[in-house]
Amino acid sequence: MRKNSLSIHSENILPIIKKWLYSSRDIFLRELISNATDAIKKLRILRECGQASDDATPLEIHVRIDKKAGTLTISDNGIGMTEEEVEKYIAQIAFSGAEEFLAKYKKETDADPIIGHFGLGFYSSYMVAQKVELKTLSFLSGSSPVFWTCDGSSSYEIGPSEPKERGTDIVLHLGEESAEFLQESKIRELLDRYCSFMPDPIFLNGKPINNCEPLWTKSPSACTNQEYLEFYRKLYPMKEDPLFWIHLNVDYPFRLQGILYFPKSIQQLEHKVSKVMLFCNRVFVADNCNDILPDYMTILRGAIDSPDIPLNVSRSYLQIDQKVQQLGAHISKKIADKLTSLFKTDRQAYIANFQEIEWLLKLGLLHDDKFRDRVKEILIWKNTTGEWTTPQEYLDRAKEKKIYYCKGASASKIRQVYQDRGIELLTTTNPIDSPVMGALELTLNVKFQCIESELDETLVDASREKTLLDSDGKSIATRIADLFRAELPKELKIEAKSLASDSIAGLFLVDEQMRRMRDFGLLTQEKKDFAHIGRSFVVNTNNKLVQAAHRLAAAKPDLSKRLALQVYDLARLSQKELEQDEIEQLLARQQALLEELVEG
Ligand code: ADP
Repeated sequence: MRKNSLSIHSENILPIIKKWLYSSRDIFLRELISNATDAIKKLRILRECGQASDDATPLEIHVRIDKKAGTLTISDNGIGMTEEEVEKYIAQIAFSGAEEFLAKYKKETDADPIIGHFGLGFYSSYMVAQKVELKTLSFLSGSSPVFWTCDGSSSYEIGPSEPKERGTDIVLHLGEESAEFLQESKIRELLDRYCSFMPDPIFLNGKPINNCEPLWTKSPSACTNQEYLEFYRKLYPMKEDPLFWIHLNVDYPFRLQGILYFPKSIQQLEHKVSKVMLFCNRVFVADNCNDILPDYMTILRGAIDSPDIPLNVSRSYLQIDQKVQQLGAHISKKIADKLTSLFKTDRQAYIANFQEIEWLLKLGLLHDDKFRDRVKEILIWKNTTGEWTTPQEYLDRAKEKKIYYCKGASASKIRQVYQDRGIELLTTTNPIDSPVMGALELTLNVKFQCIESELDETLVDASREKTLLDSDGKSIATRIADLFRAELPKELKIEAKSLASDSIAGLFLVDEQMRRMRDFGLLTQEKKDFAHIGRSFVVNTNNKLVQAAHRLAAAKPDLSKRLALQVYDLARLSQKELEQDEIEQLLARQQALLEELVEG
């Protein structure tokens, strides 16, 4: 047995690895299994080109726990290593790789996510082991088994090993602080998480772990719907079946395989984090793709496997990496194509699932110009008669070049005025619609207008306008406006107009652009700051209550004022704007007015 020194410059590299990687030390197992898988893959390649002899023994990876000895052993029957190779790959190269890593990322904090992603390879075993032994026999005929060990200090021992089959055993001697890795359940959990889809059979204490071929490696044309559904159930056992899916299979300019699913019944909260699992050559890397997929795709589920995604870099680097950007762009195109084809070939299914896909469509449209251009014509809204329509289809039917819409699904008098005139109204319930409509106006030749934004000619009855001037030079309309102005908040713009429907006493209008900004405020939770900006209150000169308030102004000024306030508060009530104490005031005023009425 010879003693030798590890060829590194820093004496303290192993303690640093241990300390730095503590929070994500589970990954040591993934790294060692990946090495074992690589060793088997290399042997297979050599066999295929006739450079290694074939035998009937299956190529496998075994993980064994020996509680008594306090060891965890990972064995493979892949290519193995000669003594020279152990010196070269284990003692030198890996260490310098680790050192490079440390030099590069010295400034990063413990919590930085790059650490969990970094493939430290063989030396990550020192995150859990006090001592590591390696026993290996190369596939090369005439090789002798080699034993190597290192206790985490800067020296190692290397020499002949006891007789051994071809392949490599890595024996980790676990100290007390790593006792959890001697629990079969813990190791099973890690193997399930990281290795479920790995290509070679893996056994834990003799029991098989992985027997599932990842469906993404199959050609899309060979996959059945049933297989897609079963694969989804395997990935997310507790979830409802997905709506539909996209199978990704690209070789150039980057390699990417994967299946993305559109899930059903997604809660608002679940939009925030990606649940798409990331694999690299079938090895599980992360349970989300937050750094790789554009934010609007967080709703998607599934798995992507790409050996071209750099795993050893920070988030900020990933976002500018060209391959990662191309990958995001490719997926974005695939999603747009899928939705467009569904829209064209099965409109009923598209409509039935629209609520589930709407968020992705609309967010994507706002954040990604290319995506917007692909989906701008397949956005749909429901009209007040319950039919779904695109803006273009609406315009094809309409007399005007304008699309009228109203907020919420419930009926209102003003909505009735439009309907009575035979004007189609789209309904919106989602605050994101305001920016979406704005974006569509920029790219499609359309104009959206909320029915509560302007005194459109539909709403006004010009023939009954009270414009006749009295001896003081004021019209009835002006006097009515003055009466209300005296009682209502100063910041509010007040107008008195002849409206088409007599039953409307007063209504609020909000300038279309201002409404969109208010909606933006809604989206960003700053609703209150926008209260009266761009808003006006229109009093209907044709309404009986308003006319009474005007008529009684001289004889019964108090009653007139209370009527004006009542008209205003009822309009606010229908907008759901009243606070509890204001509702109480309205009810008290109402009761007093009714009592006066019955008392005559
Ligand atoms: P990486 O896997 O990123 O190259 P590692 O530190 O994990 O870095 O391993 C260094 C090298 O040691 C590998 O490239 C491989 O040549 C060799 N090696 C590690 N584990 C095995 C194994 N189980 N069988 C054969 N060779 C191995």
